Amino acid sequence: MRIHHLNLASMREIDSPQGLPAARAVCHALLIETPASGLVLVETGLGLDDLAKPDEQLDREWTELVGPVLAPAETAVRQVAALGHDPLDVRHIVLTHLDVDHSGGLPDFPHAQVHVMAAELDAALAEAPNRRYRPGHWAHGPNWVTYPGTGTRWLGAEGVRPLTGLPEDFLLVPLDGHTRGHAGVAVNDGERWLLHAGDAYFYHGELSRDPQPHPLMDIVQLDAQVDPERRVSSQERLRSLVHDHGVAVFSAHDPWELSEYAQ
Ligand SMILES: [Zn+2]
Repeated sequence: MRIHHLNLASMREIDSPQGLPAARAVCHALLIETPASGLVLVETGLGLDDLAKPDEQLDREWTELVGPVLAPAETAVRQVAALGHDPLDVRHIVLTHLDVDHSGGLPDFPHAQVHVMAAELDAALAEAPNRRYRPGHWAHGPNWVTYPGTGTRWLGAEGVRPLTGLPEDFLLVPLDGHTRGHAGVAVNDGERWLLHAGDAYFYHGELSRDPQPHPLMDIVQLDAQVDPERRVSSQERLRSLVHDHGVAVFSAHDPWELSEYAQ
């Protein structure tokens, strides 16, 4: 399998508490070329409709807060094509959750199967439209494949499931608290497990043994959480995956983390 780390949407510039150069927050995504299941996209960032009709597709308050750049070349569909692939070959999309900046690219891949936790889809359909869930992202009727949040134990994490139609190198790992049905997406690259943790944390310093949140991103994360206790326990699980099991964990919006992977 070949794994690409992509930034699907640049957002407001943020300072580094560690003295690294300031950088725009990102939407870290994976595009994975599999031998038998076509292309798999983990996360979809913002899509072409969001950029063409931001007032309709996005929430104005969210846009002002987050400051997305809205560059078509950053969308998943354009980056898939730029890598020499046909967007129709993206047969599977796996989402950590359905927040606006994670589900925006869905309409650009209407034929794909979309894997997500059932609790997340239920919450999004019940609560939309609001600042986080935008019904235009699923108005085309995606081919949803949902998961119940029960499953096996994997490296100390509970409720873990393989993904239907994908090799066993892919797992959905419940990490709720940011939203009702938030999950991480684990991918085995042949040497180690990678885990896209979505918005289960926002800044790499939060996963160190002595956690250091980002002062600005922490405000965003506290404002967005639906269950503080579950969010904190999801972060503890991630620290254990990193420090006890050697899993390469990364999140959605940390630009310094993406630069470590997108070589
Ligand atoms: Zn997010």
